[in-house]
Amino acid sequence: RIVYVNGEFLPEEDAKISIFDRGFLMADGVYEVTSVLNGKLVDYDGHLTRLERSLTALDMPEPEGMDALLEIHRELVKRNNLKEGGVYLQITRGAADRDFLYPEHPKPSLVMFTLAMTLKKSPKAEKGLKIISIEDQRWGRRDIKTVQLLYPSMGKMMAKDAGADDAWMVEDGFVTEGTSNNAYIVTRAGTIVTRQLSNDILHGITRAAVLRFAREAQMQVEERPFTMDEAKDAAEAFITSATTFVTGVVEIDGVTLGDGAPGPVSRRLREIYIEEAEKMAV
Ligand code: PLP
Repeated sequence: RIVYVNGEFLPEEDAKISIFDRGFLMADGVYEVTSVLNGKLVDYDGHLTRLERSLTALDMPEPEGMDALLEIHRELVKRNNLKEGGVYLQITRGAADRDFLYPEHPKPSLVMFTLAMTLKKSPKAEKGLKIISIEDQRWGRRDIKTVQLLYPSMGKMMAKDAGADDAWMVEDGFVTEGTSNNAYIVTRAGTIVTRQLSNDILHGITRAAVLRFAREAQMQVEERPFTMDEAKDAAEAFITSATTFVTGVVEIDGVTLGDGAPGPVSRRLREIYIEEAEKMAV
């Protein structure tokens, strides 16, 4: 693979970052994953806008290369001949002597690489996901897309150990989101319910697009918290993220939803999303 590190495209084995990088020592970094379909970037502007928001929220300066970010994305896709998958981008505050205080003259680093993945014809999406619930033990600024992914990583391990695909996190009795995706239910009356935006969840770029498409298709949408009991009693459930698009959930804490296959609303939204994503890709 050819990767990008601070101004250079080079083979992954030659890419280097300092051991003093604050991303490595303190998780002082933010990231984005933009999906690639047919060699094109899906919702690039959405991801760039959120990236800028994350940088501002952490008072992190922009690294060199920010003005050419779209070109770097495209060049990486081209050099790796990527047709379907994602581009991972990470910005950290860079290397500095270890100190809790931010360095006075930070030199942020920018790292990017491609991820080849089958997104459209995903077997997991055909079958639907089994979800368990876990307590949400993350910090309070989940709206900032930081590289502090240890708890989500633990959550995925808990799900795996329980024979499930993923975990939804619960705080004060209500679902916040999935370990790496936003969480939705479809009530028996057909209303799509997902938690409203706040500091409690990541503002998913896929979420914004999917809710827009759902409303355009005259589907009922409610942005409010829901409980695990409501989820287990729902007609359907699904998740969204840049790399899973819309993926149906078929089991929640051991309770099968509907007939155990991804439901009609989830399947329709997945179809609409993929069609629109291909149209908007740049
Ligand atoms: N929520 C969390 C915690 C995530 O990590 C992600 C994606 O990585 C999402 C939601 C979905 O966001 P997006 O649709 O922008 O990929």
